[in-house]
Amino acid sequence: MRRFATVLTLFASLAVPRPGAAAPTAIRFGTLWDGKGHVLRNAFVVVEGDRIQSVGTDAPAAGTPILDLSRYHGLPGLIDVHTHMTYGPAPGGGRAPAVNMVLGLEAARKTLEAGVTTVRDMNAAEYMDVALRDLIASGAVVGPRMFVVGYGLHITRTRTGLPPTPGTVDGADAAMRVAREQIAAGADWVKMFGSTGSGQDVSGQQTFTYEEMKAAADATHELGKRIAIHSYGPSGARDAVRAGADSVEHATDMDDATIAEMVRRGTFYVPTIDHNRYYAENGDRFAYAAGYRERLEDFIRRNLETTRRAVRAGVRIAMGSDAIFTMFGENTRELGWFVKAGMTPEQALRTATTDAAALLAQDGSLGVVAPGAYADLVAVEGDPLADVDAVIHGVRWVMKGGAVVVDRTPPR
Ligand SMILES: [Zn+2]
Repeated sequence: MRRFATVLTLFASLAVPRPGAAAPTAIRFGTLWDGKGHVLRNAFVVVEGDRIQSVGTDAPAAGTPILDLSRYHGLPGLIDVHTHMTYGPAPGGGRAPAVNMVLGLEAARKTLEAGVTTVRDMNAAEYMDVALRDLIASGAVVGPRMFVVGYGLHITRTRTGLPPTPGTVDGADAAMRVAREQIAAGADWVKMFGSTGSGQDVSGQQTFTYEEMKAAADATHELGKRIAIHSYGPSGARDAVRAGADSVEHATDMDDATIAEMVRRGTFYVPTIDHNRYYAENGDRFAYAAGYRERLEDFIRRNLETTRRAVRAGVRIAMGSDAIFTMFGENTRELGWFVKAGMTPEQALRTATTDAAALLAQDGSLGVVAPGAYADLVAVEGDPLADVDAVIHGVRWVMKGGAVVVDRTPPR
């Protein structure tokens, strides 16, 4: 499956015309933040094919076409490490795969419009995520670069009233086998649901045991992949960290020992605070039970407080929206919560660029404006280092892999 995808990608890069890809093109920004802590004024980024050739303040070689975006601030294409591109109107889908796939195309477009050029998609039915990833990589449809998990692993008890899926797992041997199956089916990552909690349910009771988590994590790592473990509550997060999870998703109320262990191991925390804001605003549309707003807002408060403690302790944090359905386009609102949790705007931007790239093992390729990196660039109105809202609401232009995929600048 992987080999097939690679062939498709190679073929597409030869067959699909890419705007501006034939000869080097320079893009000029008023200021450029490169993701690594440097700010250049009057910067030129020279792009050739799908990669960045050079970055600097000297004018490019005579004859190089220049795209003038000097009224904007430039930054690397953003990374959202927790999406559900093929979740339809309710968490978990609830519609035919064909419907969710069509909605996924819309989600992909809105994600690019938010300046997000790469996502890690965190659970899908019918391997729709693998299909969407490969369609995007082939150039057949436009969307962000995707890292996918196939079926997330979940225990039988959490599927009451629903048929088993290929991700249904009980026991360490099964956890190992199903992790391997997802990777064989084309997954880039493994996802494990280590606690209850999703949508209006904020219960956060641990599901998988430490032994089951450890079996899945070891099997994943042996195949050179990484594993994300979902836990709304503290005990699932504690065992996920000890079992070797590369990232822990959502967790509230983590104890000091778990936070210290995350710092020691370099485990990433993906807080996903903003998705409960989305659920609180849309609970009526999802027919949530009475009192949902209070329950979700209480979870948000604890999620924010846990993030604040993690920031203070020095835990590595990556931006994940946990976007479903109509939340796409709001992918980067999470950055506002990170500033509330005590980050500077620049620290917040790193969670969606260089730090997210490190989580994805894409350091130097993604989340950075540097020679050799993918030509993923965003132009925003307003200085994002002064106010992160410039990124949340001010995206005007987006390039992904050397192709302009969003252009809301006035006619030049
Ligand atoms: Zn999720």
